[in-house]
Amino acid sequence: MTSQSPDPRITDHPPERAPSAVPIDDSVLPFEVGPLDLRGRLTKLGPSLDELLAKHDYPVPVAKLLGEAIVLATLLGSSLKFDGRFILQTQTDGPVSFLIVDFQAPDRLRAYARYDESRLEPGLSSGALLGSGHLAMTIDQGPDMRRYQGLVALDGGGLEEAAHEYFLRSEQIPTRVRLAVGEEWRGGEGGRHHWRAGGMLLQFLPKSPERARQADLHPGDAPEGTVTHTVEEDDAWVEGQSLIATVEDIELIDPDLSGERLLYRLFHERGVRVFSSLPMKAECSCSRAAVAGMLSRFAPADRADMVKDGKVVVTCEFCSSVYEFTPEEAGVE
Ligand SMILES: [Zn+2]
Repeated sequence: MTSQSPDPRITDHPPERAPSAVPIDDSVLPFEVGPLDLRGRLTKLGPSLDELLAKHDYPVPVAKLLGEAIVLATLLGSSLKFDGRFILQTQTDGPVSFLIVDFQAPDRLRAYARYDESRLEPGLSSGALLGSGHLAMTIDQGPDMRRYQGLVALDGGGLEEAAHEYFLRSEQIPTRVRLAVGEEWRGGEGGRHHWRAGGMLLQFLPKSPERARQADLHPGDAPEGTVTHTVEEDDAWVEGQSLIATVEDIELIDPDLSGERLLYRLFHERGVRVFSSLPMKAECSCSRAAVAGMLSRFAPADRADMVKDGKVVVTCEFCSSVYEFTPEEAGVE
C-alpha cells in the first residue's frame, strides 16, 4: 500500500467515508486498526491544559515539558477502568527537578513542576530539562488494592523515549508514543496565548504473542565482539511504527483538525475504528477539610512553626488555592 502513496497523509481523492469533522478538545479517543492488530489512544487538550499551566506562570520550556507529561498521563491513565488514580512523576537532577501529574479516573487532572529558573537556557530539549533520574508511574486503586509502581530511568532522553523504554522492559508490549505541546495566539493584538497539546499512543497487540517480539535496545556497554541476536519485527508492527512516525506536532496540536480526521489520514488504507471519546478536565481534589486533616498529622512543633503573622497559610501546589487557618483551627497549642 505504501508503495502507491509513500506519505499516507497525502491523498489526492476525498475520503470515501467522512469522519467527524468536529474537533473535540480535552478528550482521549481510543481507536483500533484491526487488520494490523494495533490499538491506540489519541489525546487532544485545549482549555483544560491551558488552565493547568496558566495557574503557575511557568517559563515556556517548563510549561511545554509539563504539558508533555500531562498528555502522557492521559494516554496511559485513561485506560484505567476503575475509580482509581494514575500518578506520573519524575525526579531528576536537571533544571526541572520534579514534575507530577495526578490523574483521577475517569476524568480529573492536576499537575505541577518544580524547576530552577537560573538553570533554564533557550533551546534545551525535554531530555536536557529533565537530566538524569527516574520516571515513576503509580497506579493506586484505593486502600484495599495493591499499589502498582513502574520505574524507568531517565538519562538525557525525553518522556517519549522513557515511555518506549518502559513498555519494552516492563510490559513487553511494542509501543510508540508521540507527544506535542504548543502555544496558540488568539484575539489578535493584545490577545493572550493559549496552551494546546496532543499525543498518540500506538500498541501492537497480536493474538499470538510470538508476533510481538521486539528488536532489543542497543546493548550499550556490552564487550566488543558480543553477538547481538537480531529480531525481525512483525510486518504489521513495522507498518504501524512507520505510520505513527509521520505524525507531525502541528497535526497533534491543530485546533481545527479532529482526532477522527487525523486517525483517518493515518490509517484509512487499513481501516480504523474509533470508540467513544473520554472527556478530561482540570480539577484539583484539594479542599479545606483535606488540608486541615494534613495539618493535624504534622508534629505539634511543625504546626507551631507554620504560624506567620498570626495565621497558618497553606497553598496547594497543584492549583495554587490558598487556605488560611487561625492557629486554633490549625491545632497549634
Ligand atoms: Zn488544589
